[in-house]
Amino acid sequence: MARKTTRRDGVHSEGQPAATLPIKRHDMWEQTLRQLDEVAQRINLDRDIHTMMRHPKRTLEVAIPVRMDNGHVEMFQGYRVHHNQWRGPCKGGIRYHHEVSMEEVKALAMLMTWKCALMNIPYGGAKGGVVVDPSRLSLGELERLTRRFTSEIMIIIGPDKDIPAPDMGTNAQTMAWMVDTYAMIIGHSVPQIVTGKPVSVGGSLGRMEATGRGISFITAAVAKECGLDTQGLRVAIQGAGNVGAHAARTVHELGARVIAISDVKGGIYNERGIDPSTLSFGAGPKASVWDSCPGQKISNAELLALDCDVLIPAALGGVLTAQNAANVKAKIIVEGANGPTTPDADAILDKKGIITVPDILANAGGVTVSYFEWVQGIQYFFWELEEINMRLHKIMRSAFTDLWALSRRERVSMRTAAMMIAVSRVGEAAKSLGLFP
Ligand code: NAD
Repeated sequence: MARKTTRRDGVHSEGQPAATLPIKRHDMWEQTLRQLDEVAQRINLDRDIHTMMRHPKRTLEVAIPVRMDNGHVEMFQGYRVHHNQWRGPCKGGIRYHHEVSMEEVKALAMLMTWKCALMNIPYGGAKGGVVVDPSRLSLGELERLTRRFTSEIMIIIGPDKDIPAPDMGTNAQTMAWMVDTYAMIIGHSVPQIVTGKPVSVGGSLGRMEATGRGISFITAAVAKECGLDTQGLRVAIQGAGNVGAHAARTVHELGARVIAISDVKGGIYNERGIDPSTLSFGAGPKASVWDSCPGQKISNAELLALDCDVLIPAALGGVLTAQNAANVKAKIIVEGANGPTTPDADAILDKKGIITVPDILANAGGVTVSYFEWVQGIQYFFWELEEINMRLHKIMRSAFTDLWALSRRERVSMRTAAMMIAVSRVGEAAKSLGLFP
């Protein structure tokens, strides 16, 4: 369960190699750099700007002491990384997972920079994480962990500096504890310190389902371009958390048929279609699709290889690899999770003619409505749900249209096209700002 650590907390300077890693699950950081290098060459990116982009601006590693229910103190390890702030304050989620590492957080922070630029929202990328399996902590332990972690990273977060949000293993409740901790230390309420918080404390309508809603919008748009009807579209989803469950519900609303869905324990397959309303939304990490959906039990590996129209990986990164990509039978992959496809898998999928909609577009509905939440919080003026969904669709449609057109025109994958747009925008910002001092 909790990992003991005797490491020293500390802010590392730019470009310094990351500290030793607790676990190296996969080479996500190297993969993210490789993606950047390839696109930099393709768009002829200025050499110096490219060099700066390869380094996270700031990395913070903290030790988090938590009083457990048994009366003893356990140490947890936490991270917060700012990749870039040329286009605006840093923005990115906080992940609670037992395999979180500095390398992974750095990669996810860089992906956030590209995602915000692609959606043309005024943020740079950040990410945070704690090495913990949240399903093994009591609610009280999770609250104490969150509050102490918040206080430890307060030196680099702030409503104009870096605005965290939920990610895997965290949720609106986690954000509420962060808002409260920040307010207790600062001495006044600052709801816009995080997004993805409950509506009762300044959250936005539509934020909870925004990532899933964005995924369903993109699924319908790409299916249409591929000549597939959304009605009856056969969709398989890995992950039944915030992203997976809301993606299931919203694609179902559009007329698609969710034929399989899974969680950490395994999946359910039902050719007649799973009714997503039976999924226990927000039931926490202990809930299982096996308890809520009728159908045949399958493994996560079987789900990824199912014969379906659309596969939505919406759990962990690095699940589609050189080892299993050849087994994928979906026509389209819509990346709900961050970084679910390794570059080697990408090449195999491409060769098979499978269209992959990259994470930085497919799951960007969450950060887009987070941006709306932040704007509403700054103005203390809150919008109706219809307005939020209308604005979300407008931004996603515009990003999809530009990306699709570029990918057809240049005959490149959607991921390459997305990176070309995003990296160019961040590069333009760097050019305008110049270099300090
Ligand atoms: P979550 O914690 O709410 O849900 C995660 C789901 O994945 C759960 O159903 C869990 O059981 C399942 N899971 C965990 N380990 C698994 C494994 N080894 N195999 C199969 N399933 C496993 O997390 P979330 O917020 O839904 O995030 C899921 C993914 O989407 C992450 O990659 C996250 O970075 C990305 N994402 C989240 C948001 C957001 O708004 N929450 C936005 C953009 C991207």
